[in-house]
Amino acid sequence: MSRPTHFSRRRLLQLAAAGLIIGPTAELAFGRSQSLEATGQPIPRGVTLPASPPEAPASDSVGIAIIGLGGYALRQMMPAIQRTQSCHVAGLVSGNRDKALAVGRAYGVPEDAIYSYENFDAIATDDRIDAVYIVLPSGLHAEWAEKSFAAGKHVLCEKPMALSVAECDRMIAASQRADRKLMIGYRCHFEPYNLAAMDLMRSGAVGDIEWIGSKHQYTMGPTSPAQNWRASRALAGGGPLEDYGLYGVQAALYLTGELPARISATTTTPANDPRFSEVFATVESRLEFPSGAVAELSTSYDLPGSNEALVRGTSGELIMRPATSYGGQVMTLVRDGVSEPLTPGDPSVQFHRMMDHFASAVRSNTPILTDGVMGRRDLRIIEATYQAAESGRVVTL
Ligand code: NAD
Repeated sequence: MSRPTHFSRRRLLQLAAAGLIIGPTAELAFGRSQSLEATGQPIPRGVTLPASPPEAPASDSVGIAIIGLGGYALRQMMPAIQRTQSCHVAGLVSGNRDKALAVGRAYGVPEDAIYSYENFDAIATDDRIDAVYIVLPSGLHAEWAEKSFAAGKHVLCEKPMALSVAECDRMIAASQRADRKLMIGYRCHFEPYNLAAMDLMRSGAVGDIEWIGSKHQYTMGPTSPAQNWRASRALAGGGPLEDYGLYGVQAALYLTGELPARISATTTTPANDPRFSEVFATVESRLEFPSGAVAELSTSYDLPGSNEALVRGTSGELIMRPATSYGGQVMTLVRDGVSEPLTPGDPSVQFHRMMDHFASAVRSNTPILTDGVMGRRDLRIIEATYQAAESGRVVTL
């Protein structure tokens, strides 16, 4: 039922110019056409706000304004900020004033620290706010990072950093001009299972890595670009790779400790499916590393749910399933036919440890582990993946 989009760029441009194709591949060839605007949305379903506001923060706690009060901010990250001593929710930026007022009451944010997308620039003179946390749809990250740096604030930006290397370059330049920190919300770098896996690979626990396999996929319910930003080219880029598949890309890099030298890829898009009129359904890629290790990655919004990272080395295997979830990680090391379950810690610490890392970088000017250079590196790999799929050729990095 699905057709692999596997044309040369030249052929795509010819077809698109002749009006013969629509959909993700044509749009990638021509860039994004929709305008981007931050808008207010209703409070997401299933969100429980704290019953009572937090105690007053410590005097050296970093004040953070949350930009975008959606599912990830309200369900995961704002509760995680409450668990830290290092930072607190000091402001909100939202296009939905009623939602923001309700969230503000629950988190003890004064009404005059609640900003809209229109009056955001006034945040520059608000000394209660040291930094912002951008939890907007991905296509809005670059613009709001630039605005935040122009307002003199440090920036924690959700993954993906942006939708192109060019946007990442703008963000890094703005951060340097403002002399403010830029961090990307790569939570797995603060999660005990993934940290233990990195240590195991560095110590040669499976010998030399030969192969990595990763699947990050789920089946998206009925939707369309107008209903869901994740189905919109302008707000989500190519779709699953920037969103869920980025975990597989990251895992391949932090498990091998290498950058890929060559990438080949295919994309798949079912015809006449409103979910995939603008984004790809599935992206499969093969990354070849200088050591000879190969990573085969699959990400999809149209396949049964899967979250795994597997490593096969010359003397053993590591199985992580689920590998990069919010919780419930399971990890097994197999050596000489013996399986050893590993339980390095509580995965739920990843959220507040990430916030502590950011707060400490802001307060003490310490280096950021998951910085803009890392975010840009990953967008370079994503762009190369699409180039490989479009051309049907191996792309050399
Ligand atoms: P969401 O749809 O639940 O929330 C997005 C929020 O952005 C909306 O509630 C709205 O307040 C705001 N918004 C402003 N302009 C908008 C527009 N034009 N269209 C839609 N919303 C608009 O999305 P989410 O799942 O919270 O994702 C937000 C960001 O967080 C994305 O970049 C995503 O990749 C990232 N994320 C990261 C993780 C992780 O595990 N690190 C998990 C989920 C999401």
